[in-house]
Amino acid sequence: MADKKLADAIRKYAIKNAIDYGTAKEGSVMGRILSEFPETKSDMKGLAKQVAEIIKQVNSLSKDDIQKEYGKHSKEFEREAEEKAKESVPKFILEGAVKGRFVTRYAPAPNGYMHIGHAKAALVADEAARVYDGKIVLYFDDTNPEKDRQEYVDAMKRDLSWLEIKFAAEHYASDNMALIYESARKLIKQGSAYACECDAETMSKNRYDGKACKHRERSASQNEKIFEDMLKGKYDEGSEVIRFMGDMKSNNTVLRDPTLLRIKKDTHYRQGDKYIVWPTYDINTPINDSINGVTDVIRSKEFELRDELAAGILDALKMRKPRIHSEARLVIKDNITHKRELNKLMEEDVLEGWDDPRLTTIAALRRRGIAPEAIRKFVLRFGLSKTDSEVDLSMLLDENRKVIDKTSKRLFFVGDPKKITVEGIENHDVKMRLLPENDKEFRRYKLGNAFYISGREAENLRVGDRIRFKDLFNVEIKNLKGTMSCRFIGDDQKVGKTLQWVNEGNCIKAQLQTPGRLLINGKFNKDSIETADGLLESYASNLKEGEVVQFERVGFARLDDKKRMLFIGC
Ligand SMILES: [Zn+2]
Repeated sequence: MADKKLADAIRKYAIKNAIDYGTAKEGSVMGRILSEFPETKSDMKGLAKQVAEIIKQVNSLSKDDIQKEYGKHSKEFEREAEEKAKESVPKFILEGAVKGRFVTRYAPAPNGYMHIGHAKAALVADEAARVYDGKIVLYFDDTNPEKDRQEYVDAMKRDLSWLEIKFAAEHYASDNMALIYESARKLIKQGSAYACECDAETMSKNRYDGKACKHRERSASQNEKIFEDMLKGKYDEGSEVIRFMGDMKSNNTVLRDPTLLRIKKDTHYRQGDKYIVWPTYDINTPINDSINGVTDVIRSKEFELRDELAAGILDALKMRKPRIHSEARLVIKDNITHKRELNKLMEEDVLEGWDDPRLTTIAALRRRGIAPEAIRKFVLRFGLSKTDSEVDLSMLLDENRKVIDKTSKRLFFVGDPKKITVEGIENHDVKMRLLPENDKEFRRYKLGNAFYISGREAENLRVGDRIRFKDLFNVEIKNLKGTMSCRFIGDDQKVGKTLQWVNEGNCIKAQLQTPGRLLINGKFNKDSIETADGLLESYASNLKEGEVVQFERVGFARLDDKKRMLFIGC
């Protein structure tokens, strides 16, 4: 009984998918099923097989039959769409924010590649600036000479501009070091900060136990001298740090005298060897927010505990405090964004690089043919939600298909091609639309007798079957042994099954790589890329690298490498 319920649900979503995109796709249906029937996760292979079978059945139905079956469920889907539409209105209520006097920021540390979670932070800030009739500034929180790199600054700027975010200004925290040092001097002088020489382990244990060390008793003048000597290079890394005079007994452990400045002697990508004392996030961010005129900070909920510290530091410095708003994190199911885990996969050499199309870095999504507009719509759906969302990537792919559907040229691609000759045609010409709603641009071919159809579809043919070659004519299957053959029987539209085809004189070799789930049950999925070698109609040689097309009844794909005619499925 449960099996029937599952099979019915798969069929229902496959039908819905076929209605929405012309052809049902395994990824979307799998996504829906996994969230509705979480127990199916224990047997992903079995589920994938069942989904593939049902999708095959659905994709072989005629348009009319699909429409008819959809009718049975249409009320349910309409209701769902209405609810989704309600949910998708971004709730941009930022308490206390003032329309027309609103400045927010995006402040990434340039120590890695942007992924969709970072993009959400940037796009939410950009949207807030739009809603509140204000502006957004970019500053790079680049005060860790050990990890920050120009390469990451460049990649982030490219990604942000591709996401169509326009910043009113661009700053680098490392350009403001003089001000950071002035602020540190002020804190030390008034007894709000002190120099400590405890080793990292002792300091962390003391902070955990809520215990002050003896260095907390040093006088302001002692601390001032140590700080100046730190700047002069008289100390080694780790031998002295400057700590905030917080509250060692506070329940908020962040307030237990955190480190504000430390010695790091690595050469900085932007400042060279000019500085050896560098601020931590805790002092750097509030000061930069304050001087960059930021009125409203939207930051990830995971930094919530640090708000009190940021306010304490700005109060001690008598600097203006911005309002702080939280947003939850966005996590993609069965994928990785943590740098450490990604680095591990990189080392194992199972990924192509940071733009491997299975990843959710912005570079990977771009390479895969995801439109910036789709990413924006997708992340804004979660708005300023306070609960972390773990979302299936298929939701982004669905959003993307809606965005690219109208502009993607249609082409026929035949995977695992099998030759079939057609009797009864002579010098047949064909003219097919490039885009469904454009009757000015066409693909035109002079056809010979030799065609190719997909091996998967050829397997299901029987002698005597009447088949429609899509947008062309109808044939009756005559012979399936050796080279297959069939006979032209007219061009009446009403023959049942439709097949994609390419003509031998008008086709080129191509490869389609379709990324799947990167992880299954938390482990790297070896079969996460499906590769199909096939033939593509020769119009494809006019495509530009980077162009996104739709292989009819196969799916959308972006031309990744024109030399190899390699496409990546989206
Ligand atoms: Zn100490």
